[in-house]
Amino acid sequence: MARVAFLGLGVMGFPMAGHLVAAGHEVTVWNRTPAKAEAWAAQHGGRAAATAREAAEGAEFVMTCVGNDDDLRQVCPAPQGAYAGMAAGAVHVDHTTVSAQVTRELADIASKSGIALVDAPVSGGQAGAENGALSVMCGGAAGDFARAELVIAAYARICRLMGPVGAGQLTKMCNQIAIAGLVQGLSESLNFAEKAGLSIADVVEVISQGAAGSWQMQNRYQTMAENRFDFGFAVDWMRKDLAICLSAADENGASLPVTALIDQFYKEVQQMGGGRWDTSSLIARLRK
Ligand code: NAP
Repeated sequence: MARVAFLGLGVMGFPMAGHLVAAGHEVTVWNRTPAKAEAWAAQHGGRAAATAREAAEGAEFVMTCVGNDDDLRQVCPAPQGAYAGMAAGAVHVDHTTVSAQVTRELADIASKSGIALVDAPVSGGQAGAENGALSVMCGGAAGDFARAELVIAAYARICRLMGPVGAGQLTKMCNQIAIAGLVQGLSESLNFAEKAGLSIADVVEVISQGAAGSWQMQNRYQTMAENRFDFGFAVDWMRKDLAICLSAADENGASLPVTALIDQFYKEVQQMGGGRWDTSSLIARLRK
């Protein structure tokens, strides 16, 4: 069992840190808004620290799950940040969805203090975090991954090393690219069903068992039919992720025409006031 710090107790981090306690690890948490860390400690019995640096002191593993590239820079290399508290030999496991570029930048900074970085973005959403059933895609050195994997196991259904530092983030980009077009296709299909006077439930019951079936169809058709989006993975987060994908594609030459178009559709959903809506809200734009 390991001494672990968890920084960032949002929708994802809060339950993930809880699973670490359940797995028997000694957990110290930190959150920018202290009330959340106190609530977590009251619920799970771990310790809440006053700064990221303090939480990281003495930890063998420091897990982060914050928002974007800049948030990660504020939490890790800052004077009161995690790297100032971590000892040589400790491993930083980053679960935030960020660019491969910031990941490599932080890995360079960390290595100067003997700290290893494993980028480990996740897929599976809030439910995956709460049920401890996330897909975790990692980048890093094989030895660092082998150590980190034993801790990540507390909330993972699958955890794979995809290549060197940054490869986890590149895999997460593949995930988001695959989802973007799919959710638009599903939205158009369900909107078409409505216009054609068909029952969405009946249509989904039949087509979900054939080649059109998907996780999004199974898990989102009902709320899409009810025009309900006040849950799930926020459009604001998706736009952050798609910007990362589009920028990486500019660098590696991959063609992402549909992803670029869907990003603009999500911009329209934001303009409709849907920044915090689940990504399945693409259908709301078709109903306008
Ligand atoms: P969230 O609920 O908005 O939580 C974000 C967390 O990051 C909060 O603890 C927040 O602290 C902290 N934070 C943000 N900016 C910070 C800063 N500058 N300094 C310190 N702490 C900061 O987000 P989430 O849904 O848990 O998502 C976290 C990450 O996982 C994101 O990168 C997201 O893209 C990714 N992700 C999310 C999902 C999902 O379904 N939600 C699925 C896969 C991946 P405060 O409490 O102080 O605001």
